[in-house]
Amino acid sequence: MKFASFLASHAATMGGKDAVVCGTERLSFAELDKQTTRLAQALRDQANVTPGQRVAIYLPNSVAFVRAFIAVIKAGGIAVPVNLPLSVPEVAHILSDCAPQAVFISEATRVNFARAAEAGPHILSIACGPGCEADLRQDELLDAGEPRAPLDIPFDADACMVGYTSGTTGRAKGVVLTQSNYAFVNGYLNGWHWHLTSNDRHLCTTPLAHRTGMARLMNMILHGSTLVVMPRFDASEAARLVREERITVLGMVPTVGRMMLQEVEARPEDFASLRVALVTGEAFPLVVKRRLCDALPHVRFYSFYAMTEAGAIAWLDSDEQFTHPDSVGRVWPGVDVKLVGDTGEQVRVGQVGEIWVRSGEPGCFSTMREYFHRPEDTAKTLRNGWVATGDMGRFDEGGYLYLMDRKKDMVLSGGYNIYSKEVEQAIQTHPAVRDAAVIGVPDHLFGEAVAAYVELDDGAHLDAQGVIDHCRERIASYKKPKYVFFVPALPRNSTGKVMKTQLRELYHSETTAA
Ligand code: ATP
Ligand code: MG
Repeated sequence: MKFASFLASHAATMGGKDAVVCGTERLSFAELDKQTTRLAQALRDQANVTPGQRVAIYLPNSVAFVRAFIAVIKAGGIAVPVNLPLSVPEVAHILSDCAPQAVFISEATRVNFARAAEAGPHILSIACGPGCEADLRQDELLDAGEPRAPLDIPFDADACMVGYTSGTTGRAKGVVLTQSNYAFVNGYLNGWHWHLTSNDRHLCTTPLAHRTGMARLMNMILHGSTLVVMPRFDASEAARLVREERITVLGMVPTVGRMMLQEVEARPEDFASLRVALVTGEAFPLVVKRRLCDALPHVRFYSFYAMTEAGAIAWLDSDEQFTHPDSVGRVWPGVDVKLVGDTGEQVRVGQVGEIWVRSGEPGCFSTMREYFHRPEDTAKTLRNGWVATGDMGRFDEGGYLYLMDRKKDMVLSGGYNIYSKEVEQAIQTHPAVRDAAVIGVPDHLFGEAVAAYVELDDGAHLDAQGVIDHCRERIASYKKPKYVFFVPALPRNSTGKVMKTQLRELYHSETTAA
């Protein structure tokens, strides 16, 4: 499996067509193929990148990101995208974990890179764009002469990326993903399901360094479709791009969906070219999907359950968004899912168990090859080829999968398993509530008690007792929160997921200070 051959083929058959568009920059398939081969050659010759070595890409969404990413893979290296919103210690963790031979940086990331790398060994830096000092410059590498194509890449150089998990439950883990993984998920599965062709034009609203953005980049490589990338998300700019770039496939996370609502409802005609909208990363709130689907009846909305380690797991089709609103959908073809109980046995339909996922050998189809340089974590998560996801779920009779909670987020109180998600959903139905997150906190009587952090709508009023009473009417009494805290905004990571680790730290620091 070689991405390089896909790009060479697109360059040969439709070289003049847009491959990547970002801001005022536009690159055709012929240009992208040529430039990435040159850059790959220069990475080998001048940055001494050898097959299997990691190269970090710490760049904002840009043409330079796409060029660097493909060049690293063409050189036989392993790309490590670093997400911009990460904090300096998080970037430092990734750099020391993957020990890259080189790193692409720009004006937007140079300061944080210098701070994150200061304690470790020198990493060769490659500057993209102006305003950035570095050991090498991407534009000079691109001018370094005609490449000696084809590059000699060993056949087993299928691993192409170390993708870091979102770090929602702790430190981000590096997941080794292969070209075969992407070919199966973003080539075969996506293509089969949404009838993708080279005529499609994808809009990427999320960071390319996150798996939701990376999936759109892969669609471009594998289908020869056009990738339109937003340097940063802005709802009215997204609407303009859909209209002017005649976007057919829109990739987003639920937070972006919520931010798009106003544009979509005010000017649905801007979205006339759109045929598919993809929502992934976390639960797609019912009110948001209802309003989006009502405003754009010609668009098919697909939501997914996916995970860095296990790739694509389940999907919910447009028609099913309202017949099975609480489900994450049915399992993709080529992927097996089983639910495992506390004692390791498979549970029956209707019962809750940990979701285990398998798809081909590790590194093939959907399943990661391993965690990068973490054999113990790999052994804990990859069991006989199955990924133990750490998510709890149940199936219904119709084969629909329901995510109950992350195992780490379940509250164990007085002998009961309380799913934080169920309590959150109960609180979220209150009209004054914008969002809510629930954690378990130590309780001397019951082991753990339920604590709710609540974000109210602007100008809305509600007190703790109001939240508790609202829950009492909707869920069993033992599940209702014992503590309610109001916060202006829940702490979220770069893809909008609530960071419960931070809420636990907040609870701990406030109770120990009291
Ligand atoms: P970390 O593993 O570092 O704690 P993370 O699990 O959030 O972070 P990702 O691999 O990006 O990192 O996200 C996968 C997780 O996101 C899944 O295991 C699941 O808990 C959650 N998730 C994914 N899709 C959905 C969905 N449709 N609905 C609800 N949760 C989802
Ligand atoms: Mg995870």
